[in-house]
Amino acid sequence: TPILYWFRRDLRLGDHEGLTEAGKTGRPVIPVFVHDEVVAGHGAAPKWRLGLGVAHFAETLEGIGSRLILRKGTALEVLRALIKETGAGSVWWTRAYDPDGIARDKKVKSGLSEDGIDAQSHLGHLLFEPWTVETKQGDFYKVYTPMWKSVRDRDVPSDLPAVSALKAPDAWPDSEDLSKWNMRAGMVRGADIVAKHVAVGEDAASQRLGTFMGHRIADYAEARDRIAEKGTSNLSENLTYGEISTRRCWHAGRRALADGKAGAETFLKELVWREFAYHLAYHTPRITSANWREEWDGFPWKDDERAAEIKAWKQGRTGVQLVDAAMREMYVTGTMHNRGRMIVASYLTKHLMTHWKVGMKWFEDCLIDWDPASNAMGWQWSAGSGPDATPFFRVFNPATQAEKFDSNRVYRARFLGELFEDHGEEAEDYFEAIPQSWNMSIDDSYPEPIVALDEGRERALAAYKNR
Ligand code: FAD
Repeated sequence: TPILYWFRRDLRLGDHEGLTEAGKTGRPVIPVFVHDEVVAGHGAAPKWRLGLGVAHFAETLEGIGSRLILRKGTALEVLRALIKETGAGSVWWTRAYDPDGIARDKKVKSGLSEDGIDAQSHLGHLLFEPWTVETKQGDFYKVYTPMWKSVRDRDVPSDLPAVSALKAPDAWPDSEDLSKWNMRAGMVRGADIVAKHVAVGEDAASQRLGTFMGHRIADYAEARDRIAEKGTSNLSENLTYGEISTRRCWHAGRRALADGKAGAETFLKELVWREFAYHLAYHTPRITSANWREEWDGFPWKDDERAAEIKAWKQGRTGVQLVDAAMREMYVTGTMHNRGRMIVASYLTKHLMTHWKVGMKWFEDCLIDWDPASNAMGWQWSAGSGPDATPFFRVFNPATQAEKFDSNRVYRARFLGELFEDHGEEAEDYFEAIPQSWNMSIDDSYPEPIVALDEGRERALAAYKNR
């Protein structure tokens, strides 16, 4: 009987454990993607980017004589219907570790098991299963560095060769039309502009890894902080949809380390930050929805989305250049440099005394590399409410950060069209991409700071002291 292979955040043929196993059985494999309850909840940019990934992956599967069957609905109902139509006896997939993914998968696993279907999940989104990484006391890690030390020299199985053929079923079930799902609906005017910055699919991801390992890794430890430079791998967009496996990135990093490449250890450490985020999401699912440290529950963060300050932050017109440039970078390219993320998150939660959930949600709408675990951890880290977080009293000063990491103002000029005559193309694209209702034009004068930096800082520190 056929195996339904249910794809989610694992849109690849290379190093795909579950799919490789399915292929080895010699049974027909029916690849399926479901626009399910989790996908329905995605923000605008992640949903659009996922649609691009699914379209691309469908072509990849056709290239090996297979197909991707598309269906919309609740995961369990859709899979049950497909089982009925195809006579499949098994449904296999790559495990998810975020709370929404886990909740969905539990329902599917128990529902299908009750029906007598072989419902199997496999490792693939992470290097290490969260339950296999434990402290000496048998607890999970709440602090990053000891976790890094405990996993850095672990044996990680080699990555697997790409699946090159899958046995087709005697008859293919019907597939829905992806264009009818309207995955770009939330993108207002921005899709074609953000599209200039995406790199979709396995080949694009491999190229990114190759460029990074070939050119950037040696200088990565320092270059990763210089906000205007392409000093990092940019792989987050592909890792989040599983267009490349972390294991492949890990082994590439280990080889670079063995070759004595200076930045290799830092790169491996970043991959373990991603693991740590999932480790936390798995063991403490509240990290995506509530203060990880409950003592923050009474903190007077604002969360009224109608507030002028929150709007100014989202629209990149706080009058703080580095903050505005970074917010516009996200809107116009779908990603934001890590230093930018730390700066805008600190500014929102401290200078503007706004709840990290407001920021987390906006990122969830705008980022093409949105990742439920890394985004939640990043926000709680920045706000001070997370485990192993930066202390609240450590307030990033965007002006000092600009001097340090964008001293030649290249980054700010790239994105701030009202302020810099030699602005980049991205600055003009920004005004094309934003909703007309924002009522912003490149001919506007650049705003005065909505809050003076020292005043905002003092206000935040006073609230922290009196909490
Ligand atoms: P590189 O520097 O090349 O690093 C390689 C890989 O390591 C990344 O692709 C990523 O998978 C992982 N990584 C690097 N830094 C981190 C980190 N701090 N936490 C977790 N994993 C990391 N990352 C996302 O992938 N999705 C998000 O939604 C996301 N939201 C964030 C929100 C905030 C407030 C902050 C502070 C950070 C967030 N990050 C998020 C982490 C980080 O900013 C991005 O992973 C990084 O900028 C991606 O660029 P890169 O692929 O070039 O990274």
